[in-house]
Amino acid sequence: MDLIVAKFGGTSVGNGKRIRKAAESVAREYKKGSEIVVVVSAVNKTTDDLINITNDAITCNLTEKQHAEIVGMGERTSVRLFSATLESLGIKSLFIDPYSELWPIITDSNYMEARIDLDKTKEKVNNLKSLLDQGIVPVVCGFLGKCKNQVTTLGRGGSDITAFLIGECLNATEVIIVTDVDGVLSTDPQKISEAELLESITVDEMKTLATHGAQVLHPHALDYKHPKIDAKIINYNKEDLKAEGTYITGPKDYKPIDLYENPVASITIVGKSLLNKVGIVSALSNILLENGINLFKMNPHHNSITVFIDSEDADKAYELYHDHVVKSEDLSSISRDKDTAMFSITSPEISEITLANLLTENDIDAVLINYTKTEILLFVEWEFKYEVSKLLNTYKN
Ligand code: ADP
Ligand code: ASP
Ligand code: MG
Repeated sequence: MDLIVAKFGGTSVGNGKRIRKAAESVAREYKKGSEIVVVVSAVNKTTDDLINITNDAITCNLTEKQHAEIVGMGERTSVRLFSATLESLGIKSLFIDPYSELWPIITDSNYMEARIDLDKTKEKVNNLKSLLDQGIVPVVCGFLGKCKNQVTTLGRGGSDITAFLIGECLNATEVIIVTDVDGVLSTDPQKISEAELLESITVDEMKTLATHGAQVLHPHALDYKHPKIDAKIINYNKEDLKAEGTYITGPKDYKPIDLYENPVASITIVGKSLLNKVGIVSALSNILLENGINLFKMNPHHNSITVFIDSEDADKAYELYHDHVVKSEDLSSISRDKDTAMFSITSPEISEITLANLLTENDIDAVLINYTKTEILLFVEWEFKYEVSKLLNTYKN
């Protein structure tokens, strides 16, 4: 029997008619024989309204505990509405809010951005399982948690986390995120209306997109996506949980510290005021492109540009670049440094600061470190690859 976790975002329950349509879509799948847990967000912009009202009313001394209680009222209202609508359609349902005995999501006391206690949550989720066994559709508040009988929140947009967390703990067949777009698009359709729908996206891609600002899914929701659980994002206007949208696949074997297998060559092209001239960087990358050479990283500075490529391609690239340099008015010379080892670090335990300290304490100079919100790319001389690998892996554990 399929076990579906269906999460309805604010717009998809944005008015009475939509709540009814959403409940009907749940009822239809239930009648086909699926077990369903519903996760609901606050109606439309209720959370924003509650925050604004609070800020207007209380200008000082608002505790985080009080704040979480107030902003949580949006979800606490919508579960009641949704569950009653299901019952009106003849489906046995129970709303579950943080003050319910059966509430499953347990967190720490960081009220407005609480961390989930996975072990306790896994235990409590059995409460939902016993409801499902009785043919009841639990309707759970998204976004909220509980710490010692107090409401906490998982942070803005946190209902997505609730859905995947419950999906993981219940070993669900599928997690369905119902929202106001057809799925994940090539960019935010509010920014570019021609944005195209993606049929599927990997967990890694989706996490990166979300971490860099795409609101369509909370960046931490997929921390709880098991590879065996299907997941998709669909539009509420299809009024059908079976609707097509964007499938989220994976994750594949996750390697928090990944060392590229070959030595990586670094070639530096020298010239004057390179950052102020148009076309220098693109000419250098085009030379590689035209010759089928993969570029790992290009590091442009005012007076030099360093490119990192597989050392197997380096002799060819070196000659091509030399030809280009002697013909160019802006470039003067090139050189090739020692080969490097390239690490991609995505372990949440290793921050910029920890990495910098680790290298300094062990007297290792990095050739280049490139930080983004989701990944650190580290180049060190090839001879240090085992030492650095060991340091990083010891730190991670
Ligand atoms: P919900 O209330 O259902 O959780 P959100 O407003 O949090 O919905 O997320 C959906 C919104 O995400 C869309 O309306 C869209 O504007 C925005 N968005 C940003 N980037 C993307 C993208 N790449 N694909 C789809 N939607 C995106
Ligand atoms: N209602 C909450 C918010 O607006 C949570 C959510 O929608 O996921 O942030
Ligand atoms: Mg959202």
